[in-house]
Amino acid sequence: MDTRTNNYIGGLHHITVLADDGRRNVEFYAGVLGLRLIKQTVNFDDPGVYHLYYGDQTGSPGTILTFFPYRGLPPGKTGIGQSVVVSFSLPLSSLAFWEHRLKRLDIAFEKPSERFNREALISLKDIDGLKLELVFNELDTREGFASGHIPAKHAIRGLFGTELWVEDLAPTAGLLTGLMTHQLLAEQGSRMRFGVEDSPGKYVDVQVPSNKAQGRNGNGSVHHIAFRTPGQLSQNILWEKLRGAGMHPTPVIDRQYFRSVYFREPGGVLFEIATDDPGFLVDESAETLGQSLMLPSRHENRRHELEAVLPALDVNLSPYY
Ligand code: ZN
Repeated sequence: MDTRTNNYIGGLHHITVLADDGRRNVEFYAGVLGLRLIKQTVNFDDPGVYHLYYGDQTGSPGTILTFFPYRGLPPGKTGIGQSVVVSFSLPLSSLAFWEHRLKRLDIAFEKPSERFNREALISLKDIDGLKLELVFNELDTREGFASGHIPAKHAIRGLFGTELWVEDLAPTAGLLTGLMTHQLLAEQGSRMRFGVEDSPGKYVDVQVPSNKAQGRNGNGSVHHIAFRTPGQLSQNILWEKLRGAGMHPTPVIDRQYFRSVYFREPGGVLFEIATDDPGFLVDESAETLGQSLMLPSRHENRRHELEAVLPALDVNLSPYY
């Protein structure tokens, strides 16, 4: 961390989504998209529900997508005050591979389009209606999950970014470019792209949609987006800055794999600041990551009870895809 530039935020850490069925979630994200299931744990605030984490080989910040699968959760409604898209980054040369793959797996998608004259994207929906984008670009130097069942050269590299819908652009843009140290990187139509630097995994696009209906969280909605910060020191500094700017950050919460502070940005989207440390190898080895249910020590005494209510997940999907 370089304290001279006040650069306490390093782009996105993870995005967390509400879903329905955990098994179908694994089939789609590990099976179809080829992400690595890096952690099976429970929602620490509601331990009868899974918290599933996907990412690259080791769960590097900026590659992580997480889900709370609540079976039977009513669908959400896309609108103002939400992050409405999860975008993944892929090599430009992989476009044809993914078009073919999605067709073969009978997954509907919109025909490729171009954005900012430098990226090609395919839009699709996941099994619960969440809008996803595969963004093919030439900027990403990350490896992605290189030992999955998708050829390494075509693997998802990590998150590309997200898109926020707000009623009034200025307050959200002001927060991002102010204490969150983002820059306005590009503008096209009503879309403004912000990032701490011009690099996949760090993009936050903001739009004021023509339809001003409020969003409602439910199945298939993004619950929050998390920005990464190196550790406790930089997180504490950000916490003070957020307080000073009139936000209401929560106290620091231990999430076992990172420490979190949550606050609602002025446009209504729930933001989190998550630390890079200690990371996902704190309780499992890189080889066995995501293979079995991990519980924080305070829930370990409930393991039998929780294993009985949580559906068993099939984590070895490659033969089917
Ligand atoms: Zn989070």
